Amino acid sequence: MITTLEITVLLVIATIGHVMALIWLLAGRNKWKIAERTIYDLPINDKQMRREFWNSLHTPSHAVILFGFLYFGFFQNTSIASFFISAFATFIWAEIWHYASHRAFHLSALHWIHAEHHKSHLNSPFTAISFSFTEKLIFDLGILGLLAAVDLVYSLNFYGIAAWFIGYLLVNSFSHANFELKSKDYNRWVGKVLTSTTYHSLHHSRYTGNYGLGTRVLDRIFGTEWEDYERLYDRISREERPLTRLREKVEPSGLR
Ligand SMILES: [Zn+2]
Ligand SMILES: [Zn+2]
Repeated sequence: MITTLEITVLLVIATIGHVMALIWLLAGRNKWKIAERTIYDLPINDKQMRREFWNSLHTPSHAVILFGFLYFGFFQNTSIASFFISAFATFIWAEIWHYASHRAFHLSALHWIHAEHHKSHLNSPFTAISFSFTEKLIFDLGILGLLAAVDLVYSLNFYGIAAWFIGYLLVNSFSHANFELKSKDYNRWVGKVLTSTTYHSLHHSRYTGNYGLGTRVLDRIFGTEWEDYERLYDRISREERPLTRLREKVEPSGLR
């Protein structure tokens, strides 16, 4: 039996991406303080936003697919320990699955799956939820398919997995803003491991590199991180000088 709390959590997953998009839209239009460190000082046209909005209409499919697994009896463990184990396992596996499938989508034979997301060279409030349906299907089934296989051996917790989905939709929304929210010193500490909005903006403006979801770990291991990322972060965050061209690089100081 599916409980009211489970349905409520699924409804949050179904709608939080759009709620975040609305917040970023208001932040940008009303010039809120969090939106003042612009990454790319370039115009985003309404045509892009309209296209992204239409793509975003199938975003609730995350919740529908998760509901499907719940309906067929997966992820029934209710212990506190399993909540944390499930959230952590989802986090680790999603990083690996996203990185591997994302690299595969950049191969010419599979690029059609991912091309819709890359039509946006600059990030708008709706880019975070603008994907082809096939891409999100592969993303969700890859993550939940392996977790369901694990669940047969070690029972996992629905709320732990759902917490990751909520976190993903929130963080992915941050990652597609056109302003940097994190502190000036972010890359001295936690930012050595975790990504930022600037990090993923580079993937859109330059089309390759910086493939990681929430962490820089796999990009570092496989040598796919943009070399000037930290200098670029400092320029946007510390010097508050936005980039003015999509392919603009930031040379080490002294060479500028
Ligand atoms: Zn990509
Ligand atoms: Zn993106």
